[in-house]
Amino acid sequence: MSKTDWNQYSLETQAIRAGQNRTQEAEHSIPIFTTSSYVFNSAEEAALRFTGKQPGNIYSRFTNPTVSAFQERLAAMEQGQRCLAFASGMAAIMAVGMGLLKAGDHVVCSRSVFGNTVLMFQNYFGKFGVETDFVTLTDLSAWEAAIKPETRFLFLETPSNPLIEIADIEALADLAHQHDCLLIVDNVFCTPVLQKPLNLGADLVVHSATKYIDGHGRCVGGAVIGNDELIENNIYPYLRTGGATLSPFNAWTFLSGLETLAIRMKAHCDNAFELAKWLQQQPAVEKVHYPGLEEHAQHELAKRQQSHFGGVVSFELKGGKEAAWKLIDATQLLSITANLGDVKTTITHPASTTHGRLAPEVRLESGITDSLVRISVGLENINDIKADLLRGL
Ligand SMILES: *Cc1c(COP(=O)(O)O)cnc(C)c1O
Repeated sequence: MSKTDWNQYSLETQAIRAGQNRTQEAEHSIPIFTTSSYVFNSAEEAALRFTGKQPGNIYSRFTNPTVSAFQERLAAMEQGQRCLAFASGMAAIMAVGMGLLKAGDHVVCSRSVFGNTVLMFQNYFGKFGVETDFVTLTDLSAWEAAIKPETRFLFLETPSNPLIEIADIEALADLAHQHDCLLIVDNVFCTPVLQKPLNLGADLVVHSATKYIDGHGRCVGGAVIGNDELIENNIYPYLRTGGATLSPFNAWTFLSGLETLAIRMKAHCDNAFELAKWLQQQPAVEKVHYPGLEEHAQHELAKRQQSHFGGVVSFELKGGKEAAWKLIDATQLLSITANLGDVKTTITHPASTTHGRLAPEVRLESGITDSLVRISVGLENINDIKADLLRGL
């Protein structure tokens, strides 16, 4: 079945069926192809493959059947023409920069992106003469004001981590295109189940498959999805040369993760929404950040742009860092770990962990106070999660 045929099916079906190219062994499950290279029938065939005149596998740094199956499945789910997998989410973001940027170019990036993404643009692309300006995610006029003739792309995550703010993808895509720039969206928090940025006008989507796509906290991986032309001309040549390749074993793990993604996301969202409403009623809690709550500044936008409100809740406690650490240390069930998107509920103190390497003033500008706690709500029974939090509230 060709790639485009998957558009006739809904996401739940794509997640289970897309990407499988059954071999002559007639296997039902997708196999793990542990091979570094591939054999040619003749010297001529080898030459044709290497020059790209004949399609087919050459070497697993850039194509592997198990990895290809994962790519095809995720591309179908994001409604993109093509997906390339990478060794991690950061490797995928690195590939976007390496593939699209040159010295003298400019990037406008949301201030509220993953901590390592800030460091990637500032410290590493910055070192090679690419300048990045950071703006407030939800302030459309700030994005517009930051765009220069040299701007190559706008980069954002929505919802943001850890404050769960929502950007208007459609409006930012229009803005980017008016200025001949691209819009790149990190879709880790929503996954294609809740939000499809390409359909809203984004040019590329990046993923950390480590989070909800795996869903069980086992493997690290990433992906970039977009149209054939951008992927073929800008991202694929970098993957081939840069070599931050996803292993077939990890791709196989993510393939099974995708199969249950839709039902897991629904359950994560239901648990998170209930927890957010419950946290609001706790006297020790100052403020809850969750887009499902009517008080959330982008509640209406979230309803329009996403099919549900997501699995991550953050909140501020009365009593600063001391209260935050006390709550975290009092838990017995929840995992104290910075990972998210796991079936296990995880609890973290962003200011001293995920965002601890940012300068204190940058952190505060982003609204990440010392009293903030982030919970990636898992699939345990919600009453057990609440009871565990009550120990420290
Ligand atoms: C984790 C994460 C990344 C980086 O992904 P890795 O797989 O850890 O390299 C990028 N963006 C977001 C939003 C993330 O949560």
